[in-house]
Amino acid sequence: MNDSLIIALSKGRIFKETVPLLAQAGITPLDDPDTSRKLILDTNQEQVKLLIVRATDVPTYVQYGAADLGVAGKDVLLEHGGEGLYEPLDLRIAVCKLMVAGRVEEKDKPTAAGGSGARLRIATKFVNSTRRYYAEKGEQVEVIKLYGSMELAPLVGLADRIVDLVDTGNTLKANGLTPLEHMADISSRLIVNKASMKMKHQAVREFIDNMTKAVQDRS
Ligand code: AMP
Repeated sequence: MNDSLIIALSKGRIFKETVPLLAQAGITPLDDPDTSRKLILDTNQEQVKLLIVRATDVPTYVQYGAADLGVAGKDVLLEHGGEGLYEPLDLRIAVCKLMVAGRVEEKDKPTAAGGSGARLRIATKFVNSTRRYYAEKGEQVEVIKLYGSMELAPLVGLADRIVDLVDTGNTLKANGLTPLEHMADISSRLIVNKASMKMKHQAVREFIDNMTKAVQDRS
């Protein structure tokens, strides 16, 4: 049996960090998504193709079986909810943290907005994770959805806090912000469509095993 495998991933950081792992699993893309406009990339293995999609769309392509497998950040999976997916492997790439951040001056203040009892306003693109986090803490907050440049929100009075990914902390620092609370450790995960796991068991299992070995060999 020589089942086809379609793997969804995003260009940029995830693609760059996944390529060496794929290489160890014997798979080399024949195009570079940074220079090619192709969205379906052939590889050195005829039955393996890569789909180049937006990072936040990777779980959707895999959930609906348009791709058998995918590489997605845990932040994206937390937002998506993980329906219809298995998450068999932590690839230990694109490592960072999901954090609550606020203005440096607020570092030692209590969590409630100005202590006035008003609800904290939190700007983020991670609305589901943020709602869940504050609900678990039993804190009532107002979540404001943004699509980027979250760091600006506390500086111009749009929000009291932001929830964002933090790696070195340089972006926060450059904008007078500081991390206040750790929400989750983030890294990229291999995800698998549940039906593909059954119907293409041998090919999927072999790919997961090869990627597992590639991750272990790197650490
Ligand atoms: P840093 O300044 O190193 O803390 O990086 C923070 C900025 O990079 C933020 O705008 C994040 O959204 C983005 N970022 C950091 N790590 C990741 C990651 N693993 N995946 C996606 N975006 C990230």
